[in-house]
Amino acid sequence: MPEPGPLNTPTPADLERLAARLGAGRVSTAAATLDRYSRDESTVLEAEPWAVVRPRTAGEVSAVLRWATAGRFAVVPRGAGTGVAGGALAVGGGVVLSVERMNRILEVDEDNLTLTCEPGAITAAVHEAARGRGLFYPPDPASLDACSIGGNVAVGAGGARAVKYGVTRDYLLGAEVVLADGERLALGGKNVKNATGYHLLELLVGSEGTLAVITRLTLRLVPLPARRVTVLAAFPSVGHAVRAVARVIRARIVPAVAEFMDEVTIEAARRYLGRDLPGPEAAAAYALLELDGERADALEADMVRVAEVAEAEGALDVLAGEDPGQQARLWETRRCLGEALRAWSGEIGKADVVVPRSRVPALVDAVKAIGRDHGLLAACFGHAGDGNVHVNLLRVGADRAAWPEIRAAALEAVMDATRALGGLPSGEHGVGVLKRPYLARFLPGRSLALMRGIKQAFDPLGILNPGKVL
Ligand SMILES: Cc1cc2nc3c(=O)[nH]c(=O)nc-3n(C[C@H](O)[C@H](O)[C@H](O)COP(=O)(O)OP(=O)(O)OC[C@H]3O[C@@H](n4cnc5c(N)ncnc54)[C@H](O)[C@@H]3O)c2cc1C
Repeated sequence: MPEPGPLNTPTPADLERLAARLGAGRVSTAAATLDRYSRDESTVLEAEPWAVVRPRTAGEVSAVLRWATAGRFAVVPRGAGTGVAGGALAVGGGVVLSVERMNRILEVDEDNLTLTCEPGAITAAVHEAARGRGLFYPPDPASLDACSIGGNVAVGAGGARAVKYGVTRDYLLGAEVVLADGERLALGGKNVKNATGYHLLELLVGSEGTLAVITRLTLRLVPLPARRVTVLAAFPSVGHAVRAVARVIRARIVPAVAEFMDEVTIEAARRYLGRDLPGPEAAAAYALLELDGERADALEADMVRVAEVAEAEGALDVLAGEDPGQQARLWETRRCLGEALRAWSGEIGKADVVVPRSRVPALVDAVKAIGRDHGLLAACFGHAGDGNVHVNLLRVGADRAAWPEIRAAALEAVMDATRALGGLPSGEHGVGVLKRPYLARFLPGRSLALMRGIKQAFDPLGILNPGKVL
């Protein structure tokens, strides 16, 4: 088996050979293009690639990887570039291989309840195609209007509906990939069951472009729920909000969505939207729940029960939205949080940690204490239903010159607190470059060694997305 060794930088002649193999318009070294692909949504990292390749077919992807294997050149797969961990950046050099032009929805199979598409399809287009047939693709990352479905699989994306429906991983039935040496391979398919050896397909989830390039996907669909209601409850603390969600679930009502927002995120939304938000001034936390189902009477009964539970847990106010207009208003606060926090502080340290659901209040308390200790403003929001907390450390009140050190030290402390509560450093955004330093703290050495063995088996020369994950 070949050994991973030093990688090479392609010469202009190497890049011309690749361009000649692929045909017109596939390979670009134009300064504006290199600049555009030197960033993702991590916002703190930049890396200019040697070239950007935008193939239209799996055959062309295969040609790129055969060229890269022959020359020992690094290749960085990229979907829509909305990743927040730096996974799609050519850190250390590389050719960015963007699948954005491979974006067709190929089939919705109503007999097998599957959808087959190319990896560059935008996630919202997958939702739309399923909905057009009365079917439902539940995973809903907040970036779904911009991110690609291949990127969702590669990162293991989650979303608000994870509590009832699960995450991207739970909907992957089959894929076609191109391996590092250019060979094309089909994994899984339309079979619902598969007990046939090691589940290589599952290894793609969270592989972040380090094992293979995904060129086609088959996803599981479910029937589209006929009805939906939204409930927003205002509470005096995050602890109250999270306990209310736990009690709703104990009452055997599994909401499709169960989000929480703390008082800093509520204040950020208030400033951003420029008006009062639902609920009383004293609200220091929100729980936002969505219930879905088939029968109006059953949904109504669940909604009443949720309101009772929320009130019993100390809710200051409970609002329900049954029509799309009311629902959009209740969701507005949650949907604007990314922009609202950025508008408040241009510099933010972010973490996407996950802890057992019952430990969310303890984690939020720990993060607030870390904010006080480091003289910054800590905001927490996220998925009360699954324990995934988006920590945002805002440079409000902290010294600008010292910010990089303050941010790094505070993020370290957040990771320590997460570990102490039995959590993990990423719930849904992946490892990429930014979370790689924390991996050894959370995973046993033997796990990391096994992962390195898997990487070596898939990509012996180490040309696929070097420096990511491991
Ligand atoms: C405002 C905002 C909200 C977000 N909300 C959520 C959320 O709710 N939940 C969530 O999980 N994430 C969220 N994200 C993060 C991001 O959108 C997801 O990680 C998404 O899955 C990335 O998809 P992408 O197509 O942009 O991938 P990219 O950023 O292009 O790539 C991400 C990684 O996947 C690899 N990759 C991409 N395509 C392929 C392929 N075809 N084959 C092999 N590897 C590939 C890349 O090499 C890279 O390592 C959010 C981001 C933003 C900016």
